[in-house]
Amino acid sequence: MHTKKFLTSIKGHLLQEKQERLRRSAQKVEIDIDGDETDEIQGAIQIGLHQQMASINKARLSMIEEALGRIANGTYGKCADCEEKIPEKRLQINPYCLTCISCAEDRELESKRNGG
Ligand SMILES: [Zn+2]
Repeated sequence: MHTKKFLTSIKGHLLQEKQERLRRSAQKVEIDIDGDETDEIQGAIQIGLHQQMASINKARLSMIEEALGRIANGTYGKCADCEEKIPEKRLQINPYCLTCISCAEDRELESKRNGG
């Protein structure tokens, strides 16, 4: 298991990011279209980008929730595949990761093999 200190710092980081993403997802797109064709295209691009961002945001939020849930039930930081402890450095870079590096590589190879 990881130390309580480490888990607390990760939890703080996750909560901070959650707040930030919730704030961002509440924002509205402000586009002024004054009938100009170029503006309409620009507007469409901006709306498209915003939707893309919103879906990334949503996916991230659910990953954050999942990580917070794992911290709460004590399974955080344990590889989902081999149950080895995931190195703290890896969790600091990617706090949502579910597997250790070697299992992540295995999964990647597997998805490539399956034509992904
Ligand atoms: Zn593993």
